Amino acid sequence: MGISDVRKNELADLAEFISTDYCPNGLVSPEIIAEQSGITYNYGEYKDCFDGMLEHDAGDFHIYLNTQSILYPDNSRLRFSFAHELGHYFIDEHRNALKKGKSLHKSYQRLLPKNIVEIEADYFASNLLIPTNRFIKFIQRKKFDFQIIDSLTIEFGTSLSATLLKFVESGNHPIMVVYSQNNEIKHYWCSTDFPFKYFLEHSSKKLPPLTVAGDFFNHGSKCDEPDRVEASEWFSSYNDIRGIKLWEKCIYPTYNNTVISIIWE
Ligand SMILES: [Zn+2]
Repeated sequence: MGISDVRKNELADLAEFISTDYCPNGLVSPEIIAEQSGITYNYGEYKDCFDGMLEHDAGDFHIYLNTQSILYPDNSRLRFSFAHELGHYFIDEHRNALKKGKSLHKSYQRLLPKNIVEIEADYFASNLLIPTNRFIKFIQRKKFDFQIIDSLTIEFGTSLSATLLKFVESGNHPIMVVYSQNNEIKHYWCSTDFPFKYFLEHSSKKLPPLTVAGDFFNHGSKCDEPDRVEASEWFSSYNDIRGIKLWEKCIYPTYNNTVISIIWE
């Protein structure tokens, strides 16, 4: 399930308008945006009940943020959760639905299939923390290498995932991001102009063995630097792609036997 391009533009414009209005310079602060919008909030340890939650009570809104997370124990995870909950407040349809019902809106930042409301709030959050105009200004005239992703996470205070998704959406170089777990491709995202569309191991979803990620699952090897791989090891194509080389940079999160590959030409 996805959001239409028209809707994406609406959400991105809304988010960027709010960032520019409340935090015109420097890091976008969800706390400042909440305070200036009359939304109260608190941080607390809520086990794994939720990552963030927006509560409505008689016209008042409150955001709960869960500091307890084993998956992403850094500040960028909380900033994203906060921005996501602000999305449920600032997106008219979400706020109105919450006002009508009495239900609490619990949200999770997990790589699980999500419903459209959650996808919209994620999209809003990404654009609130990384407004497109500032993003483009930062990357323009820079030749792509993985360092740019690292500097973007610092510049915008965002997690690697949020930063990569933004780059897939609005970056100046086509990339693909592949999440694999237990030697299987679980999700992937790519820029619209990324030149390959079909994985070689399409039916089995198994990681191709002669790739950097495949090497990790088959031999436990980790490679910290971007490495060269044959395009034909990852992808199949109607065209002859023998001899085409790609870069693959892998990130090895410490949980769930997961690898994130970033692939570019
Ligand atoms: Zn949510």
